[in-house]
Amino acid sequence: MDTIYMDNNATTQVDPAVFEAMKPFLTELYGNPSSVHGFGGQIGVEIRHAREHVAELLGCDPSEIIFTSCGSESDNTAIRSALNAQPEKHHIITSNVEHPAILSLCKYLEKKDGYEVTYLTVDDHGRLDPNDLREAIREDTAIVSIMWANNETGNLYPIEELASIAREKGVVFHTDAVQAVGKIPIDLGKIPVDMLSLSGHKLHAPKGVGALFVRKKLPFRPLLIGGHQEGSRRAGTENTSGIIALGKACQLASENMDEERSRVRALRDRLESTLVSRIPDAKINGDPENRLPNTSNISFGYVEGEAILLMMDQLGICASSGSACTSGSLEPSHVLRAMDVPFTFAHGSIRFSLSRFNTDQEVDFVLDMLPDIIKNLRKLSPFSADKEAPACTKAFSE
Ligand code: PLP
Repeated sequence: MDTIYMDNNATTQVDPAVFEAMKPFLTELYGNPSSVHGFGGQIGVEIRHAREHVAELLGCDPSEIIFTSCGSESDNTAIRSALNAQPEKHHIITSNVEHPAILSLCKYLEKKDGYEVTYLTVDDHGRLDPNDLREAIREDTAIVSIMWANNETGNLYPIEELASIAREKGVVFHTDAVQAVGKIPIDLGKIPVDMLSLSGHKLHAPKGVGALFVRKKLPFRPLLIGGHQEGSRRAGTENTSGIIALGKACQLASENMDEERSRVRALRDRLESTLVSRIPDAKINGDPENRLPNTSNISFGYVEGEAILLMMDQLGICASSGSACTSGSLEPSHVLRAMDVPFTFAHGSIRFSLSRFNTDQEVDFVLDMLPDIIKNLRKLSPFSADKEAPACTKAFSE
């Protein structure tokens, strides 16, 4: 049975061209780029090229790119750098739909280090109101961190407007663009973002490499202290093969973005609109106007998302659900809760996230299989449009 992989917001397949580019750096080109000898030095040159490819995709200067190990490291570095560079400021602004790489760090900083955090809220389509940011900024705000694209719904946030508000008020603006980079055009020459995080494994490079954009002249404090790698901004011997892979992945994204975006969007739209027309009580979660082209988050009312996933898995279809099984209880995701998605719909939410490798035939297969899966699960479900959720389970939605 072939795998039909529609979980690309979780991670992506390494592109064969990316693998070819990185391979020599895992075998014969193993030198340390910091070495004085030519064997290491030649790797330094390749890292420079990789940095140029990342910068080109983002519309920034190569010197503004710091390679890291992942999106989470980039996020942690950005927030901590802003706080450490401005020790007199104790306030952070973020949103309540961020990835845990930001949310858990903010909760930690609140609890352990006494920072105050404002969590901007979203409406029932998951949209933020930029005026809320304007009102939340204070004299002691050290950093605003708002994601560019939401990993669960694909919602795109008005980063240009949000970053401009922060810039106007003299506050550092960071964006977690882990889900946006490689999927939509980004031009940091035009958008006044101060720091931006990205992660290789979301754009067809391998796991274990990421990058942080830090605008020139922004005061910066490294997270990892040690050697002088990355211009003394991130200690640790470079993950050379990962960096080369990320450079190649960014080059491919720059070259193919327009064509790929419209192809993936067409697949996603066909998948989504046909599912919603064939399956009763199916609703799309997110902002219909401003979404990533590859992501579709659909709630199938009155069924359990985890059960849908298991049934799809038996057919080789990989997707994600909007609930996570933690300590025996199925909690709907914080993103769907922030959007006030009703209990019986939040629990039946499935995220399909496509990539350049998906095909029309795969979409056809899912369209053929899913209506019956939902129909059969609904026969077993204690819930329905005319059966109320029992009180004990209703409590989850509060
Ligand atoms: N931010 C967002 C929006 C993500 O979707 C993810 C990963 O899912 C991360 C950050 C973390 O990235 P990484 O897995 O590279 O640490």
